[in-house]
Amino acid sequence: MTETVRPYWQNYIDGAWADGGDGTRITVTDPALDEPIAEVARGTAADIDRAVAAARRCFDSRALRDLRPHRRGDLMLEVSRHLGDLADEIALVECRDNGKTLAAGRAEVALTRRYLQYYAGLADKLEGRQIPLGADYLDYTLHEPYGVSAQIVPWNGPLPVGARSVACAIVTGNTVVLKSPEDSPLSLFLLAEACHRAGVPAGAVNIVCGYGYEAGAALVSHPDIDHIVFTGSVETGKSVLRAAAERVIPCVMELGGKSGAIVYPDADLERTAASATRGIFHHSGQICSAGSRLIVHRSVHDELVGRIKALAEQRSVGPGVEGCDMGPLINARQLDRVEALCRAGIEEGATLVMGGARVAQRRGHFMAPTIFTGVRPDMRIAQKEFFGPVLVVLPFDTPEEALSIANGTDYGLAAGVYTRDLRLAHWTAERLVAGQVYVNEWWAGGVETPFGGMKRSGYGREKGQEALLGYVQTKNVGIRF
Ligand code: NAD
Repeated sequence: MTETVRPYWQNYIDGAWADGGDGTRITVTDPALDEPIAEVARGTAADIDRAVAAARRCFDSRALRDLRPHRRGDLMLEVSRHLGDLADEIALVECRDNGKTLAAGRAEVALTRRYLQYYAGLADKLEGRQIPLGADYLDYTLHEPYGVSAQIVPWNGPLPVGARSVACAIVTGNTVVLKSPEDSPLSLFLLAEACHRAGVPAGAVNIVCGYGYEAGAALVSHPDIDHIVFTGSVETGKSVLRAAAERVIPCVMELGGKSGAIVYPDADLERTAASATRGIFHHSGQICSAGSRLIVHRSVHDELVGRIKALAEQRSVGPGVEGCDMGPLINARQLDRVEALCRAGIEEGATLVMGGARVAQRRGHFMAPTIFTGVRPDMRIAQKEFFGPVLVVLPFDTPEEALSIANGTDYGLAAGVYTRDLRLAHWTAERLVAGQVYVNEWWAGGVETPFGGMKRSGYGREKGQEALLGYVQTKNVGIRF
């Protein structure tokens, strides 16, 4: 496989490739080498205008709505097929602009194709209801698309996160303007290419890269969008919601997390250690649902920490293209932030078991796998999202105490339970305030299972059948004979 990526990428608007309206570009940097690898057209407010206008024209033309639903599904199957043809290139760009490992880059393509296929299959299964009103009436509901769906995607998993929203929008008859992340935009351009090759109607899917404060803000405050799907941080999410409130636009909000797993004393410690290690160090912890807090019964605390440390030490930290299994953080700013939060943990009295700082021998933005013990629930490292490879371990004595620690943050994205006692697992799962609870395996679930947040982690659900309901509005039709 070649290690070079295409040097210049254009935005995809109205079925065609386009430079940024003002001709400027964004430089994309490889976080593993801290060097530029490509340029992309910088989408500005004017480009967002053009993209929204194209999406509006396409929606109003009924090019998608008048297709039979299973034909919209067929389109997504075609996109999936073309994405498969681009798999090697996608895996490479995921390594180069995103810091993923090659294996993770390939897995992203496979996952994305699953999303496209799954929603293709559901295209003709979103059924309305017939409501009995007596002999003189016929009453039924329709699931109608909102119109132009504005979608904002973060840098950590742009392809699957973007594609799953695009697929839901298209199979329900909406059109899309997607703002790709400025740090790692390349794989979504390849999704655009797959849409183009698949014959998705011009204007149905528009993908524009630009800065959040510029193209992102222009998109979410655009007067002609009808729906917003935002995935990103809580702070940005709040500003998106303020823009949406101005025009009363429905939003799906997928925000951050500080997800904790409770380990009861009867847990299988070998499996728990493997699951917890993957849960925090996969993609260097840059996953919204990373298992960043481990709440461990005091009787098994030392043994479990020892096991996780041993597994973490086996991880090779370095560029994905070199076959390493833990890549860099996305940029210098993020590395500085994670390091600073680690220093705060030490100042507040937590015990650093391993890591705690950048990997100085490497040029890129590599953070050492890090574990803290002796963490109190009120410490900053127990409350703030690192979005990095940092695990904080908190001991507990009773299930009630474990629950109070687990639920004691502003977030409510994911949570976990490790135990052999299914009654206790269910008792705990029901009391955890989180959109998804993983029992005995972090990330148990998949494309088929609804995913989303509680509390400040957001609302609305992506993934699974439930996601489709976030892309349609119910219309009731009552007929008097
Ligand atoms: P971010 O909020 O900084 O950026 C997310 C996106 O919003 C980017 O495309 C950015 O350009 C855009 N943006 C920035 N300012 C904007 C504005 N004013 N208006 C509109 N758009 C704007 O987040 P990030 O650093 O890219 O991603 C990390 C965060 O995303 C973490 O908090 C993580 O937990 C969260 N995340 C959540 C999920 C989920 O499904 N819940 C998935 C992945 C990431």
